[in-house]
Amino acid sequence: MTDQNERSYLELGLQQAESPLWVIPRDLCTRCGACHVICPTNVVRFEDEYPFIQTGGCIDCGLCLDVCPGIEFNLQEMHREMYQADYDPTKMGGHYRQAYVGFSSRPDVRKEGASGGVVTQMLIHLLREGMIDGAIVIGSSPDDPTIPMPFIARTEAEILEAAQSKYSVVANTKVLRDLRKTKERFAFVGVACQIHGLRKLQKLNKRMAERCVITIGLACRGTLERQATRDLLQVQGVNLEQVQKLEYRGGPFPGKFRARYKDGSIQELSPFEFKDGAFLNLMRLYMPPRCHLCPDYSAEFADISCSDIFLGGKDGDYRYKQGTTVVVCRTEKGEQILKGMVEKGALYLDPIQPETLEMSYSHVRRHRKAIPFLRIQDLRRAGRPAPEYGIEVKSRFSDRIYDLFYRATYFFTPFPRLKILILRFLYSPLGTALIGLKVSVKKVRRGLKARKAWSRGA
Ligand SMILES: Cc1cc2nc3c(=O)[nH]c(=O)nc-3n(C[C@H](O)[C@H](O)[C@H](O)COP(=O)(O)OP(=O)(O)OC[C@H]3O[C@@H](n4cnc5c(N)ncnc54)[C@H](O)[C@@H]3O)c2cc1C
Ligand code: SF4
Ligand code: SF4
Ligand code: SF4
Repeated sequence: MTDQNERSYLELGLQQAESPLWVIPRDLCTRCGACHVICPTNVVRFEDEYPFIQTGGCIDCGLCLDVCPGIEFNLQEMHREMYQADYDPTKMGGHYRQAYVGFSSRPDVRKEGASGGVVTQMLIHLLREGMIDGAIVIGSSPDDPTIPMPFIARTEAEILEAAQSKYSVVANTKVLRDLRKTKERFAFVGVACQIHGLRKLQKLNKRMAERCVITIGLACRGTLERQATRDLLQVQGVNLEQVQKLEYRGGPFPGKFRARYKDGSIQELSPFEFKDGAFLNLMRLYMPPRCHLCPDYSAEFADISCSDIFLGGKDGDYRYKQGTTVVVCRTEKGEQILKGMVEKGALYLDPIQPETLEMSYSHVRRHRKAIPFLRIQDLRRAGRPAPEYGIEVKSRFSDRIYDLFYRATYFFTPFPRLKILILRFLYSPLGTALIGLKVSVKKVRRGLKARKAWSRGA
């Protein structure tokens, strides 16, 4: 807890609005951790994944504000700098050289990965080739498996242990502080907002920029507050004391949310795969509000971005039935690394057409390329703080209507007790039957969509 000498960022913000110390309103913070890394006096701390400043040591340099992607990330400026081209807000995939689908050639890595194990394989390759000394990845706290813990993996075993997505807020950038005084080279893995923080950090700290060998982005529709995992485990009667590891994507692709116990047994937390079984329902209840203001789905400023591929087949099932990652190569650096991996037989990659990439991201187009800008306009009109992205996107009437209904599905987010009740219902026999019905309807729709695309030759 904060004591008298330590005040929350928010309190400082409200009380000292004219000071450079202040104003990262909680709802704008993406919890990336960059402010912790940049602070010259090391007074930015984290509590419940929100930063706060220990008063006393702050020298008012303002660097924590300069680095903060939560309040500002100029898409146009960064795009021109990285790709020498204007930002195109209509492209979900962003700027890239080539997109592929692929997977690790090591069956154990492919099996452990969230999708095709490509990210894990890339990190292992870079370490083996002596190109990096460590990789910023996410494990879990040894005291509490519901707490995701960023760390620097320096061995192959550590990289493999950290495979799979942890759908939970985690300020991974903050571990870079440990590298400030070393000469170690590293690979950075993160979702878009974490990559934004890193890019701003690199602009302010050239030594850090030089030592970052590669940034690997993960597509992201939204994350979950930590409480989501805790509440789900409580509702499912999981004995946390006996849990060795939580798996958000355990078992055959696309994986299920599971608890792995110390005695080796496994408890599935839903009979359905991770999306239908947990993630999409939990998102409606536990997604941080900041995610609604985020315009970057495919981590458009990483060297290489990776995502799932959930395109449907004509049978209504997924087209790719085994772990497969979409790999979007954006920079020359990324290209060289992928080429080296394919030549060494570490990775299988198959090029895909731009239309296929856009189609695989089409389900979130509105949530990333329309709604954030619409809501930012609304916040500004209401005189409330909103993130600055350096571009204006006009909203359409149909987006506004859609957003009205969409907002309603997030109605329960602020009510902790109600959320538990809803979870209890969703995981009751009736709730499970209803989710099963929804899954079947989705399957039929997926099949129809795939057949339609097929007849168009896509
Ligand atoms: C919060 C979150 C939301 C996502 N949402 C989507 C989505 O909407 N659509 C989509 O297509 N894909 C999404 N992904 C990406 C997807 O889940 C896979 O990570 C991606 O397909 C790569 O799979 P892989 O098997 O190649 O990666 P793996 O080989 O499993 O490696 C994943 C790497 O990511 C690291 N990692 C895990 N969790 C986090 C985290 N929270 N923050 C930073 N690093 C992390 C791991 O330590 C590991 O190194 C999301 C990922 C996260 C973390
Ligand atoms: S203003 Fe400077 S010294 Fe103060 S918390 Fe921010 S980065 Fe640290
Ligand atoms: S730098 Fe990142 S963690 Fe710090 S206030 Fe900004 S968004 Fe939050
Ligand atoms: S939706 Fe955007 S802000 Fe939210 S976790 Fe993902 S990348 Fe970060």
